[in-house]
Amino acid sequence: MTDNQFSITVIGSGSSGNCYYVKYGTNGVLLDAGISYKDTLKKIKSEMLNVDMLCVTHSHGDHAKYVKEYLQRGIKCIMSADTKYELGLKDDYGVLTINSCECIVDRRCLESRIYCFPIKHDVPNLAYYICFTKLNSLKQLEIDKKVLYITDTYDVSFDIEKDTTHLILECNYDEAIMHANEVGKNGYLLKLNERIRRAHLSLDKCMDFLNRNLTDNIEEVWLCHLSSQNSDAELFKSKAEQIVAKKGLSTKIYIA
Ligand SMILES: [Zn+2]
Ligand SMILES: [Zn+2]
Repeated sequence: MTDNQFSITVIGSGSSGNCYYVKYGTNGVLLDAGISYKDTLKKIKSEMLNVDMLCVTHSHGDHAKYVKEYLQRGIKCIMSADTKYELGLKDDYGVLTINSCECIVDRRCLESRIYCFPIKHDVPNLAYYICFTKLNSLKQLEIDKKVLYITDTYDVSFDIEKDTTHLILECNYDEAIMHANEVGKNGYLLKLNERIRRAHLSLDKCMDFLNRNLTDNIEEVWLCHLSSQNSDAELFKSKAEQIVAKKGLSTKIYIA
């Protein structure tokens, strides 16, 4: 009897540090290393022993600051060659580099599979699919849960794979809130906001993406990386829930 219990745990989300723990039975995958090993351990405790892989999206500190801590504790980290270079990681750290669309089959347990594709940010960035499989009645492996993690991008014009069951999706800022915050402000803030607009996902684009891609296969959507200044968690959640309702789905919406 295998334990296929699935869950997503938010360890950190936003510009102060991103890290998510995805668990399926005794397989665990960490997404991003923007939270220290110690703080992650505090949150997931003995589950840390089940972590097969840490997937790093890109080199920014809020996603990769603590990569070395995890590597030093023997956790396999996966990232693009660009990110590895930008982080200055040497070969002897044993980092796995991944090209887009390449599949990683975990050596210890064939039940998890990871692949990725490039997404647009202001540095090289990857979105990850994390697949967990189970044996069906014909004793064949079939996908049970498939998580797609998309963060730090201004462009989600692509469509997702139809068998995706869980989304962890950036919803960074609302243009109206950001615009209101800019009234009477000058220089630094305006420059910062221009950078955010060129690098992060707005509420409108996020909702357009959900409108196109939400199907009854998607059990949960976790809206993540909300801006501390330019977001409104309740508004973002209710906008997403309106799409769920309009489509007659039962997808659960969470704010990370
Ligand atoms: Zn970020
Ligand atoms: Zn970033």
